[in-house]
Amino acid sequence: MIDKIKALEKISRLLDPNQSQRTQWNTQVLKYANDFITKLDTCKTYIASSDTGEGIYDLNITEEPTDLATLLDSTTKNIDEVALNPASSGHMGYIPGGGLYPAALGDFMAAVSNRYAGIFYAAPGAVRLENMLIRWMCELIGYPPSACGNLTSGGSIANLIAVVTAREAHNIKARNIEQSVVYLSEQAHHSIQKAFRIAGLAEAQFCYIPLDEGLRLSATALEQAILKDQADGLQPFFINASCGTTNTGAIDPLEPIAAIAQRYNCWFHVDAAYGGFFKLVPAMAEKFKGIEQADSVTLDPHKTLFLPFGSGTVLIKNKEKVIKAYYWLADYMQDTVGANQEISPADVSPELTKHFRGMRLWLPLKLFGLSPFRAALEEKLCLARYFYQEIKALDGFEAGPEPELSVAMFRYLPARGEVNAFNEKLIRAIQMDGRIFLSSTTINGVYWIRVAIVIFRTHLEQIDLLLDIIKEKVLKLDKT
Ligand SMILES: *Cc1c(COP(=O)(O)O)cnc(C)c1O
Repeated sequence: MIDKIKALEKISRLLDPNQSQRTQWNTQVLKYANDFITKLDTCKTYIASSDTGEGIYDLNITEEPTDLATLLDSTTKNIDEVALNPASSGHMGYIPGGGLYPAALGDFMAAVSNRYAGIFYAAPGAVRLENMLIRWMCELIGYPPSACGNLTSGGSIANLIAVVTAREAHNIKARNIEQSVVYLSEQAHHSIQKAFRIAGLAEAQFCYIPLDEGLRLSATALEQAILKDQADGLQPFFINASCGTTNTGAIDPLEPIAAIAQRYNCWFHVDAAYGGFFKLVPAMAEKFKGIEQADSVTLDPHKTLFLPFGSGTVLIKNKEKVIKAYYWLADYMQDTVGANQEISPADVSPELTKHFRGMRLWLPLKLFGLSPFRAALEEKLCLARYFYQEIKALDGFEAGPEPELSVAMFRYLPARGEVNAFNEKLIRAIQMDGRIFLSSTTINGVYWIRVAIVIFRTHLEQIDLLLDIIKEKVLKLDKT
């Protein structure tokens, strides 16, 4: 037995490399990271490739080890140089992400120390750090210190946590699902509908409230719909407001909606996944009035705090309500309960064991301080307005609503031929060019091209380049 154990130990010790091996790997990975960042200045945002990274299959899992250089080469070729590069300054499609460098260092630290950040008892310092970040975000949106929240993997899970908390707080059972009404607009993010389906509430009534000319949910129409539903014997339950819609960046009228939610005893959720952190820009405060009255708020640090993907946040005003939905004490965890503890992430989310996400958020916020975040966000707002003014002034172009945040929309009206078809060709030409990546949307049957400015590396230079590319492609397409 002892011989066998010793033989196995010899092999299993390979999993714990010595300092010299670690240094060698660190150097190689650092070189990869540095090369990647240096190349951002010259490489395209979108690379159309015919093999779409199939070469990664050559490196399937085997008994034998593979050297790191081979793995890094394949990563560059099959992953990094295929399709969309979200770290690029030219990414202005969908809602782009970030990739602040210190966040990568935070992930590295969290992975090396592997603190068990799900439970206060196991890693009180790590849990305090996460709770401190949540308190900072609560303060930002105007929540009281008694509020709580959770650092999630993204906005979709944040929305799901909010929906389940609302379901439990309103005691929605199978027998009253069909009478319960959810109010939202057509511009709500689809993760809201998805959350209701996952939460077992797909059979609730979904009432889509008309939009005003700025594509915002109309508060007057909302109240009329609630009154009608009440008269019909239905139970108004949940109101979703978007604070920065994904399509156009529109902010629903939060204060009037909050008053309606209060009057009719509805759960008020604000999906601020894209828009929330623009509250860091002092001049924007007015637009966020009423967000502090929400029962729950979703934020997405991997969008507008420029973090790498994998960081969302849900904030819940009433701590007891989220605990009611998520707290569970397993017999084998009885040692973890004690006095003088802070709330644990596991008490307010579906997760138990989890990534120590706080470190990737705390490190950049502390290393940079808030000032460059505020400036970058304000810069993106200005860039969107600049693009909007420039494109509107060009012959033959039509622009969407004036950007409330950092998304602008436009389309070209060709002298002849079908307008939607022309703009589909235009966006294809821009995407195939690859220097800048844009995406499109359809609103009320009209095809629009969107410009979403969220990447921290996007500056005036890229917007001017975009304007040149658009002019160049339109000229070419108009001739054919
Ligand atoms: C991006 C987004 C979501 C979904 O968040 P993920 O982080 O992609 O899961 C939800 N709501 C809005 C408004 C968004 O922009």
